[in-house]
Amino acid sequence: MVRSEFDQMMLENAREHGVSAFEGIRVRDVLFDNTGLFDGKRAVGVRIQEENGAVREVRAKVVVDASGQSGMLMNKLELRIWDPLLDKGAIWTYWEGAYRDTGRDEGATMVLQTADKKGWFWYIPLHDNRLSVGIVRPFDDLFGGSVEKTKTAHGERYEQEVAACPAVAKRVAGAKRLTGYFATKDYSYRSTTVAGDGWVLVGDAFGFLDPLYSSGVLLALRSGEMAADAVVEGLKKNDVSAAQLGKWGVPFNQGVDRMRRLVCEYYDGFSFGNFIRSYPELRGTVTDLLIGDLFTDKVDRVWEPMETQYPSAKRAPVRWNEGQAPSEDEKQNELVLPTGLRP
Ligand SMILES: Cc1cc2nc3c(=O)[nH]c(=O)nc-3n(C[C@H](O)[C@H](O)[C@H](O)COP(=O)(O)OP(=O)(O)OC[C@H]3O[C@@H](n4cnc5c(N)ncnc54)[C@H](O)[C@@H]3O)c2cc1C
Repeated sequence: MVRSEFDQMMLENAREHGVSAFEGIRVRDVLFDNTGLFDGKRAVGVRIQEENGAVREVRAKVVVDASGQSGMLMNKLELRIWDPLLDKGAIWTYWEGAYRDTGRDEGATMVLQTADKKGWFWYIPLHDNRLSVGIVRPFDDLFGGSVEKTKTAHGERYEQEVAACPAVAKRVAGAKRLTGYFATKDYSYRSTTVAGDGWVLVGDAFGFLDPLYSSGVLLALRSGEMAADAVVEGLKKNDVSAAQLGKWGVPFNQGVDRMRRLVCEYYDGFSFGNFIRSYPELRGTVTDLLIGDLFTDKVDRVWEPMETQYPSAKRAPVRWNEGQAPSEDEKQNELVLPTGLRP
């Protein structure tokens, strides 16, 4: 479905349930006083800028940071940890008239691996006969060190990848490209904590996981639900401490860890097909994991059998907050928009 339409539905639904939502407002800063336990600071509101340029302060018992990859509080409080394994880049564009399956599979999202197995394409049918098709590869390999290279170069790199992947090339042959090429650094990261005194992080403002299994919106919604429960309970008890607002952090991180493990296994060449052939009784559990049933330990029964299929030198992937993170330079996941055609 079209993301902007989905977001609009969510916004309208929130309003129907009594939320006051204001549009066209930019949050410039989060305000703190010195009464909190977390680093001595407690969030007490935000400084906002209205569309007409006016700046004012709004006080709040709890500040929920849902600012996406710009990670307002994560940056301000230096909480971000870059994943040591998942340092990817992505280039994508939109097509009209590319191949779609028929019948119930017409809208099916596909993941198509590149021949060298270092990267993959997403192939996502959208409305009006449009498709989003993107390539994800290790960052340095895709951008040669800098995402800010010329936009022509992004297009050339994308077309090179399409040409080298017959499964994609044949699907877009004869289709019309609708936009220029979007590019982003696609590094996975998480915050060291989900909450502090008076504030809580949700969605990409807390963490971003490689989009291989399209888990981003699911994780954003799930973190929103879990954070909302903690906030509502905290407001009832008049407790907006880091401990109360962050109650959901451990189980949420465990859920993200499960999806991350699948992502890392894929990049490390693990064959899910072979695995299911060896352990047909685990097919349902692997499916549960892939469709996002991440927040139950019932699914953990797949890991041990999975490890029995590892080559002898292979170990389970290092955790998201261990090991050598990607280089310190230019870590922000900035999005480079095309100058020409836009959706
Ligand atoms: C290349 C790529 C492909 C992806 N593919 C998929 C996929 O197929 N499926 C999937 O589920 N997920 C996918 N994702 C992930 C998904 O897009 C995100 O995980 C999801 O959008 C996170 O939602 P969010 O609400 O946290 O952040 P966002 O959707 O980024 O929303 C953040 C909002 O906050 C606003 N904002 C930011 N700063 C401020 C401020 N200071 N003041 C006011 N407003 C502010 C922004 O304008 C934005 O509207 C992909 C991501 C990438 C990078």
